[in-house]
Amino acid sequence: MRFSHRMDGLPPYLFAEIERKVAEKKKAGVDVISLGIGDPDTPTPAHIVEEMQRQIADPANHRYPNNRGLDEFRQAVATFYKSRFGVDLDPETEVFPLLGSKEGIAHICFNFLDAGDVCLGADPGYPVYAGGPVLAGGEPVPLPLRPELGFQPDLASIPDDIVKRAKMLFVNYPNNPTGAVIENDFFEHLVEFGRRNDICIIHDNAYSEITFDGYVAPSFLETPGAKEAGIEFYSLSKTYNMTGWRIGAAVGNAEVIESLWRLKTNVDSGMFQALQRTAAFAMTSTQKPVREMCAIYQRRRDLVVGTLREIGIEVTPPKGTIYIWVPVPDGYTSAGFADMVLEKCAVVVPPGSGYGPSGEGFVRISLTAPEDRIAEALDRIKDNL
Ligand SMILES: *Cc1c(COP(=O)(O)O)cnc(C)c1O
Repeated sequence: MRFSHRMDGLPPYLFAEIERKVAEKKKAGVDVISLGIGDPDTPTPAHIVEEMQRQIADPANHRYPNNRGLDEFRQAVATFYKSRFGVDLDPETEVFPLLGSKEGIAHICFNFLDAGDVCLGADPGYPVYAGGPVLAGGEPVPLPLRPELGFQPDLASIPDDIVKRAKMLFVNYPNNPTGAVIENDFFEHLVEFGRRNDICIIHDNAYSEITFDGYVAPSFLETPGAKEAGIEFYSLSKTYNMTGWRIGAAVGNAEVIESLWRLKTNVDSGMFQALQRTAAFAMTSTQKPVREMCAIYQRRRDLVVGTLREIGIEVTPPKGTIYIWVPVPDGYTSAGFADMVLEKCAVVVPPGSGYGPSGEGFVRISLTAPEDRIAEALDRIKDNL
């Protein structure tokens, strides 16, 4: 087969080797504990599952959906944004359904990038911030997030020639993988930067509802001028333990939404209406299960942070997300430490370098396992250090 050069440019899949080793160990009967994936371990709340059961039984939902999304879904997203963030959205022009944020991240690159165009993407960051631009024929440029700046990019340090070539920028707060949150005027700077340089800002909002210690995360669109600067991707995956359902939304700048819609009419045929109606229900009915889940994650977070402290690894307890970003002990690289932990402790933690060059020196611990399993994993690590 003669595959496209584009495929050669895709970043290597860094977890392939880890997955191979895990499979080998499991086959040999080893009790492997995975703190690797960012996939909620508790089920979708029962009231949402029951609504889906009702919707799926309705033949009206069995046809091709309209690509633009049901009014009911777009209205529910607008209602949620108004009540949760105080953000006004026009459901006609400023809301668009996505089959999960991931496809939105990949596809929107085709709306903006031609050969030679740059996409700035948080580093460490969600791997599609680099893969999407490559597929679209553009050039991903990492935007380093450093601990001393609270894992926010230093916009002023981006070289002028890169700024000139950049047409889009991906960031995400509360942040995967670092757990960093926004508590200052960074979004204001980002809006100003995007508008001054005509760079579309894309805020990948996957974790605004997963927060701790009373911290309430903002939407990027709360920032004055944000709708002129870009859009936000909202995902139901982490909020309602719906990762497998594939549902999210693009919200904000109407011109960008229109362009994304036009692109996607050529890619997919919209979202299953039963799912749109269930998502609308999830966003506008009780949010109590979300708070209960956050309490569970917060307990797990405290367990991890406390145990790491006993080992002599200091981490700031994150105020959001389902991850702890852990500096590796002296003398280890990210990959070396992850490898040691897998070989000696049978615990899977992804190396930070898998999320971009600035992730070197860290591993990511996911809070998506029951407390006793997390405790067991940390005990094993403690015994081997
Ligand atoms: C989980 C995650 C996503 C993916 O969301 P889906 O809606 O399930 O595709 C996107 N971005 C970040 C940063 C994530 O952690």
